[in-house]
Amino acid sequence: MELEKLTCISCGTAIVIGEGSVKFPCPQCDEIIGRCARCRKLGKEYISKCGFRGP
Ligand SMILES: [Zn+2]
Ligand SMILES: [Zn+2]
Repeated sequence: MELEKLTCISCGTAIVIGEGSVKFPCPQCDEIIGRCARCRKLGKEYISKCGFRGP
């Protein structure tokens, strides 16, 4: 597995995949979006650089 530096798109925290954090491509522009466990739990919305908002 390749190591990637990922930050949570909502809070900017560095995240490690596999500790409750996730990454996925934006449905609209395929930007890789990272979300930390805390923001997932809180249900924080994210905004991709293309303007896509998601829960
Ligand atoms: Zn976060
Ligand atoms: Zn996007």
